[in-house]
Amino acid sequence: MGQFVCLLATLVAAIAFVQRTTGAPAFAIDPGKAVCFSIIQVKTFLSLLSVHPSAFSEQYDNFEKPELLEGDIAGFGKYRTAKEAIEALSSGVDRNGYYSFKWENKILYYTISIRFIDWERERIHRAIEDINNHTTGLRLVERTDATVQRNYVHIQRGGPNTGCWSYVGQIGERQFLNLEVPAYPTAPHCVHHGTIMHELIHAIGFFHEQSRTDRDEYVDINWDNIEKHQQHNFEKYDSSVITAYGQPYDHSSLMHYGMYDFAINRSIWTIRPKPLWEDIEIGKAQNMSEVDINKINLMYPPQ
Ligand SMILES: [Zn+2]
Repeated sequence: MGQFVCLLATLVAAIAFVQRTTGAPAFAIDPGKAVCFSIIQVKTFLSLLSVHPSAFSEQYDNFEKPELLEGDIAGFGKYRTAKEAIEALSSGVDRNGYYSFKWENKILYYTISIRFIDWERERIHRAIEDINNHTTGLRLVERTDATVQRNYVHIQRGGPNTGCWSYVGQIGERQFLNLEVPAYPTAPHCVHHGTIMHELIHAIGFFHEQSRTDRDEYVDINWDNIEKHQQHNFEKYDSSVITAYGQPYDHSSLMHYGMYDFAINRSIWTIRPKPLWEDIEIGKAQNMSEVDINKINLMYPPQ
């Protein structure tokens, strides 16, 4: 609308100028005023142009999507797959590096970006509270002292198409957890109760449920409907490198893939429960299951 007014005013001024210089009848609008008006409009328009992109970028912390494994796990760097990373780590290689460690003293410190708007921040706090209300040993605590609380998760407000993702476990110093907030309200969005908790449970130290060593007894994988280069997202891990803490396989876990994740043909499943559990919907949970809670409490038992 502003652009239209601006163009119209410029046009009026131009015509008036031509009429004045050619001796044609004067305009109802004083051309001088029209020019001033149009200049103001043009200036406003240009300033909007120059201000808008930076105002836009100030809404977000992040515009990049890292290489992700299993759809939402960051931080495997030189390792091609999570499996390679875990195996390297479990054999003691890179122990001082990067990946998947428990939070010392059972405290996961976090900060929340100032860029989140009120209702988003409220949801993040509620998700954190939900985890804290169910855990007996682990505590998620807002970071207040940068000198002492050196390792922490910074929850950032990601720009469009940056995804929902986290590292697995404590990696040292500041580590990011990204929650994408799209440019338009109808686009996919990470600031949902279940999604926030899912990413936080990665940060606490867990992989997806279907990565479990025993998963082939409980789900089928439709390899034909998964691109070759995506198949590593369906790897399972050896019991020497991950543990389910003796908990039963949980199709209802908040950490389980959905039936069509990574599908070539989106109308055909890629992972589904074995017939005995065929009525259970996978990948739809919005809350932690009993098994999710038990596993966190077994990883971080009370004193
Ligand atoms: Zn995940």
